[in-house]
Amino acid sequence: MSASHDSTEPRSSTEPHTGAASPGSLAPEEATAVRARLDEVAERAAAAAESAGRPADSVRIMLATKTQSAERIRTALTHGFTLIGENRVQELTGKAEALADIPHETHLIGPLQKNKVNHALRVATCIQSIDSLELAQRIQRRLETTEARVEYFVQVNTSREDSKSGVAPEAAGELIGALQGLDRMRMRGLMTIGLPGSTEAEIRPSYRELTGLRTALLEQGIIDETMTELSMGMSNDFELAIDEGATMVRIGSSVFGARPAAD
Ligand SMILES: *Cc1c(COP(=O)(O)O)cnc(C)c1O
Repeated sequence: MSASHDSTEPRSSTEPHTGAASPGSLAPEEATAVRARLDEVAERAAAAAESAGRPADSVRIMLATKTQSAERIRTALTHGFTLIGENRVQELTGKAEALADIPHETHLIGPLQKNKVNHALRVATCIQSIDSLELAQRIQRRLETTEARVEYFVQVNTSREDSKSGVAPEAAGELIGALQGLDRMRMRGLMTIGLPGSTEAEIRPSYRELTGLRTALLEQGIIDETMTELSMGMSNDFELAIDEGATMVRIGSSVFGARPAAD
């Protein structure tokens, strides 16, 4: 099969040549650094779980992969990590194709616009940002046409910042009750972003509130034991979140390094 006519894609000649690695793969020293940071995060998470009196494997590490290339993500997925979270549907779609040969689970952890529902459902098996009945109903209707199902977390705004997505803690019970009529969707638990504070005293309460909300919802019979996961904690505070009961922490910069400022 020879490329006999003009449709052959021109090779990009504008990209700077780093000399470090072939296109599409990570420089060996960079891959080594990512793997070392992954190991360190996993050890710290396990230690935090144990010191909170829980089994080391009771906390799952999600890699928050926004702005990261598929090849950096591949390095993590070939190092024993299987769960990634993306913020933007557009990024999700592109990277899913590049990573299709590696078994892994992808969650959407950023806000989902109604016009992106179809795209998100093609790639994500779990939506962690459900915060309204309207959005969930739109997802359910879409799933009814494709025979598919999806899992979700209800995102709760425990920091009470107006700028943040998520249902208000006081309104979570009513929302969750209404969501349970949607038979294509299975709730796994609660998610929060928390307060981006700098001290423990600032950070801890918004995680503690999510754990308290879970307890209250269980006691009221609004959720059952299959809906008790808590997705909370990021690079700067995941040990605190685990101490407060997190079952899933979402880690980006501690593994991949700082993101560009215009994130
Ligand atoms: C970026 C992001 C994270 C990870 O943040 P880091 O501080 O880089 O670990 C976690 N959760 C959500 C929703 C994010 O957008």
